[in-house]
Amino acid sequence: MRINEKQLACVDRQIRRILASGNYYSGIYQKAGITGVSSPEDFEKIPFTDKADLRNAYPLGIQAVPDEEIVRIHSSSGTTGKPVIIPYTAKDVEDWAVMFARCFEIAGITAKDRIQITPGYGLWTAGIGFQAGCEKLGAMAIPMGPGNTEKQLQMMVDLQSTVICATSSYALLLAEEINRRGLKDKICLKKGVIGSERWSDAKRNYIAQELGIELYDIYGLTEIYGPGIGINCPEQTGMHVFDDYIYTEIIDPQTGEVLPDGEEGEIVITTLVKEGAPLIRFRTHDLSKIIPGECPCGRTWPRLDTIRGRSDDMFKVHGVNMFPSQVEEILGLVDGVSSEYKIDIAHDDSRNRDIIMVTVEADGRVDFIKTGELIKGMFKSKLNVTPKVAVVSLNTLPRSEKKTQRVFDHRGD
Ligand code: ZN
Repeated sequence: MRINEKQLACVDRQIRRILASGNYYSGIYQKAGITGVSSPEDFEKIPFTDKADLRNAYPLGIQAVPDEEIVRIHSSSGTTGKPVIIPYTAKDVEDWAVMFARCFEIAGITAKDRIQITPGYGLWTAGIGFQAGCEKLGAMAIPMGPGNTEKQLQMMVDLQSTVICATSSYALLLAEEINRRGLKDKICLKKGVIGSERWSDAKRNYIAQELGIELYDIYGLTEIYGPGIGINCPEQTGMHVFDDYIYTEIIDPQTGEVLPDGEEGEIVITTLVKEGAPLIRFRTHDLSKIIPGECPCGRTWPRLDTIRGRSDDMFKVHGVNMFPSQVEEILGLVDGVSSEYKIDIAHDDSRNRDIIMVTVEADGRVDFIKTGELIKGMFKSKLNVTPKVAVVSLNTLPRSEKKTQRVFDHRGD
């Protein structure tokens, strides 16, 4: 879905505001000779921006309004280097709450609901976003913040919370505790609103069944308001994103080419009306696709598919993009195989073909040769590539406390 006239007018206005503000991006746009946009082609010439720019502009270099208009800042937790600071005007805070209330409404949540909010409050955008959306909707917020499971369960039972907002891992922990303590009959939960990330169907099904709730994925990132810029509807056909506030593109993360609807790539977001810190063509590094066509629910907001992972984790074989999540899905179906794996990709110059080698661990119960053949067949049928598969004993592959590198690309070595 290409940018429409109305969105284009918003971007044009944003660029003029940025240039007038003299902020970090005004320098970049001046250098690039960008003075505004009047066509989709103009828009696609605007350079991408990403977290590195926001770090360069630390602390408030991206602020595009005078200080007296800023009412709040949020910060994204930087695991490496400087954090990122995002300033908000009163209108930004209000717009975010309006979008968040929409998310709750789409999930069928009403003013009669009691919403237990477990994401963190503070510099992070999560807790306070849920809170503002809840109040805008007119529901009762139970602002717990994270941790203290004892208190969480007490409140859930005594106040009869009907909605739980959590990360998938915290929702899982709560589900396990409720199961362990036999509290299922004492709770009143109907729906869960879960921060969108890559999570397995097994985890999703366990949470949904144990708690007896419907689950909704809510999307967002601190750089673009926070959570609440999109959510899936009861049809569960992808997350509706609010195209009156943001414009979403999908690009090939390697070439930067804009991809048509239905193709998987990196989500790039443009804020259309954000005042404090407008961002144009911000690379999220989240992988997904725009689902073509209209949702059976009748809402016309475009839909993003479930987040498939991060663009840093993607790899390409025979020109086809592949994701670690796809590999993990396959291995999750094979008996006796651990969740550790390693993928090596090389190029056979003589045959001009990519070669993919998958190394997995299996325990002593299973036949390594049969397991290897099984995995090979599953790759062929599900991903349309035939790898070489090596099955090794448990604990052969390296474990790391940090993020483990699993994909090694030897093409061009
Ligand atoms: Zn829908």
